[in-house]
Amino acid sequence: MEHYTAAVEDMRFLLERVFDFEPVLSRATASEVDAQTAFSVLEQGAQFAAKVLAPAGVTGDQIGSRFVDGAVVTPPGFKECYRRYCEDGWLGVDLPAQFGGQGLPLMVQAGLAEMVTGAYMAFSMLTLQGRSAARLLIGHAEAAVRDALVPRLVSGEWAATICITEPQAGSDVGRLTTRAVRQDNGQWALSGTKIFISYADQDVTPQILHMALARTPGAPAGTRGLSLFIVPKFKLDANWQPGERNPARVQHIEHKMGLSASATCELHLDGAQGFMIGEEGQGLKAMFDMMNVMRLETGIQGIGVGAAAMAKALAYTVERTQGGPADAPPTPLTAHADVRRMIYTMRARVEAMRAMMFETALQLDLSYAAPDAGTRATAREQVQWLLPICKAFFTDTGFEVANLAIQCHGGHGYIRETDVERHVRDLRVASIYEGTNGIQAFDLVARKLLPDGGKRYQEFMRRIRADLAATKDRAGLDDIRQALTHAADAADRVTQTYLAQPPAQRRDAETGAAAYLSLIGRVASGWMWLRMATAASEDMPLHRRKRELARFYARYLLPEVLALEQQASASAAWIDGLDAETLVDYR
Ligand SMILES: Cc1cc2nc3c(=O)[nH]c(=O)nc-3n(C[C@H](O)[C@H](O)[C@H](O)COP(=O)(O)OP(=O)(O)OC[C@H]3O[C@@H](n4cnc5c(N)ncnc54)[C@H](O)[C@@H]3O)c2cc1C
Repeated sequence: MEHYTAAVEDMRFLLERVFDFEPVLSRATASEVDAQTAFSVLEQGAQFAAKVLAPAGVTGDQIGSRFVDGAVVTPPGFKECYRRYCEDGWLGVDLPAQFGGQGLPLMVQAGLAEMVTGAYMAFSMLTLQGRSAARLLIGHAEAAVRDALVPRLVSGEWAATICITEPQAGSDVGRLTTRAVRQDNGQWALSGTKIFISYADQDVTPQILHMALARTPGAPAGTRGLSLFIVPKFKLDANWQPGERNPARVQHIEHKMGLSASATCELHLDGAQGFMIGEEGQGLKAMFDMMNVMRLETGIQGIGVGAAAMAKALAYTVERTQGGPADAPPTPLTAHADVRRMIYTMRARVEAMRAMMFETALQLDLSYAAPDAGTRATAREQVQWLLPICKAFFTDTGFEVANLAIQCHGGHGYIRETDVERHVRDLRVASIYEGTNGIQAFDLVARKLLPDGGKRYQEFMRRIRADLAATKDRAGLDDIRQALTHAADAADRVTQTYLAQPPAQRRDAETGAAAYLSLIGRVASGWMWLRMATAASEDMPLHRRKRELARFYARYLLPEVLALEQQASASAAWIDGLDAETLVDYR
């Protein structure tokens, strides 16, 4: 059975035709790399994902990580995947060369991330954590700490975790109670219990650096009282060499719906050695550097895993025959209107998200390395706007796609052997971790839209309207141009209502936030379809497919925004006016 095929040709089309990658490379990164090199990296990544990761992903799901004598044991094949991943230099693709990375643009890393998550999502989380922790330390650690630890994370010699959640502090991060007390030697001793920590233990690296948030004595309540610490699995000496075991120990691992190869751990800190990173009380702010990378890649999990499930459905529906006249051979599933609806829906959703993934990665690249400060600042603001959309819209939509892929398989999709249901089980959590999608929607409205009077939104819309204007006279784009104009108008109407509300009425925006995020995600997808259809001007199968899918998206999927506009505009008063007592009374 074919386990995974990466969409390399689609990526090439997007990078070459839609994003005009070559000039972007020189504008957005300091590296010398040309487009050809970048494509060959993606092609090699596709091979690695298909040949090495995907087969191990199946075993990883079946056997999972286990907790044996107080330590996590990863499933067969996992160590080998990690070793080869690191040796081939995949871990540091977009990290700076001075720390051992390859200095390639995040756009390349984004394409690679889609492949790695699609082939073996549980595995991808470990490497993602190491990369994101490296970014965090590059941005916030003192030079000595940074120079000692970052190269070890970039090479994969050591791994990292993100250590935030506690039993009473999930979405409500400000309630975490893990204490950090300063020691005479300037180090810190951390005590408390962290739960749900991915890879807080594993058997593939000799050292793990936990990036942990904790509260110092006398710190204010809430998130302002949180500081960031490195807590190593093995204590570090003055030369940053590991020594005796730090009292930071995993107590048990969770039994989960999916992602079984990724151990989800309860971690007890009992006076564990810690090193403060950045300033006291600025921990959450610093942690956002790690979370920004992780949020985009959590979103990409939606694309990678959704696309992997979709590819299986495409192959299956061509082969499987059912229906047609009784006196003739049965027809392939692809002949049935409802199956076609599912296939078009999956493709139209996935390919739009993939384009938006590159758009967001491009903005991140520009925000790090564009030559002029103005471009960097605008890109930074767009990243702020796009990240909650990518995280929530991609994960929810990817899940819908994976679910449709099961549906295309009928009962065979529900059977383990077909290996489609795994994708649904794995992906379900992506809408929950890295900030639930409800919290992302709140973040989009309350922190990214309202505080600056809608500036980020206006810049986003300015670019969409500019593309609409620029394609005014282009033939063959009427459907998508018209539908996108209507969708953008709907987004404008809801946004204006939110911006006009007095602060006391902001609960209305909160009530509508999830629908608003879905609406904006669909507008962004429509925008990407306009750009793809515009670029697909030749008479070749991929270009014809793009033009057809743009039409399908415009006519069949984009009208969803009309219902979302209604939901996003619902006032809080009527929801709050419902009798809440009766809502939770179940018998
Ligand atoms: C497999 C897995 C791996 C994980 N890995 C890590 C990890 O490596 N590191 C780490 O620190 N954590 C990790 N987590 C924890 C994860 O980030 C949390 O589960 C998540 O943040 C939600 O917290 P919670 O589970 O306490 O849910 P809650 O916060 O209790 O939320 C429950 C529901 O209420 C909603 N809700 C809560 N508060 C609000 C609000 N103010 N407004 C609107 N709605 C709200 C939520 O959206 C959600 O729908 C992991 C979790 C899982 C399942």
